[in-house]
Amino acid sequence: MALPIAERWFETRRIDDDITLLWEPHVVPLMRCNIWHVRGRDRDLLVDTGMGVASLREAAKHLLEKRVTAVATHTHMDHVGGHHEFDDCLVHEIEAENLRQPRGMGRLVTSDWDPADVIALEGVGYAVPPELVTALPHAGYRLDDYRLRPAHPTVLVKEGDVVDIGNRHFEVLHLPGYSPGSIGLWEEATGTLFSGDALYDGPLQDELPTSNIGDYLVTMARLREMPVSVVHAGHDPSFGRERLVELCDAYTRRREARAA
Ligand SMILES: [Zn+2]
Repeated sequence: MALPIAERWFETRRIDDDITLLWEPHVVPLMRCNIWHVRGRDRDLLVDTGMGVASLREAAKHLLEKRVTAVATHTHMDHVGGHHEFDDCLVHEIEAENLRQPRGMGRLVTSDWDPADVIALEGVGYAVPPELVTALPHAGYRLDDYRLRPAHPTVLVKEGDVVDIGNRHFEVLHLPGYSPGSIGLWEEATGTLFSGDALYDGPLQDELPTSNIGDYLVTMARLREMPVSVVHAGHDPSFGRERLVELCDAYTRRREARAA
């Protein structure tokens, strides 16, 4: 069946004066990541960049008034597909090589994926559809031609580093478990946490080839104690401190029950 042509690829919603959410409505829910634009005095951040099916730089040009750093909360295809469009790319040092040379998944047709990835996702309750998009970005687009494109990491970070955009400062939290180089960006002054896929309000995946359950339990214990006012995650709606505690506790209970 032929897919329809999308009228536009990205949707945009302003969250507050400085933060805008972008997303790709024609990407299947499993792979539809939250792209966060954060406006700073000296530079902007784009926290993750989506699949790279269409140009994020073009779609977000009304927001991009100054230099922008494309942050990779981790290097899965649904989060770093647009990084190649940006000169400044920030990633945890452990996953820098994945940004340079993408591995795993990386295709829009899931029969081209590593079966281990499909099994891991189905195991936590996701349906993995044959194709990851429900529309085409333009006429003549061929799903088979999609590749996750390499990007050039220019800023390698680790736990405790500070991302300074002039008027706002984000501390890098190393949050391994989901993937070894998962990071969060934490702004203490406002209680804002960009959590990537370390924590979102949906089925968490910890059996991917890149996951580590022991690390994930440590990350959850750490996140549970954070005095957040809002968590802007890699998927699904944002949430506050009460929901953060529920999500961390639910994960920990589920894993400890299985280990017992
Ligand atoms: Zn994700």
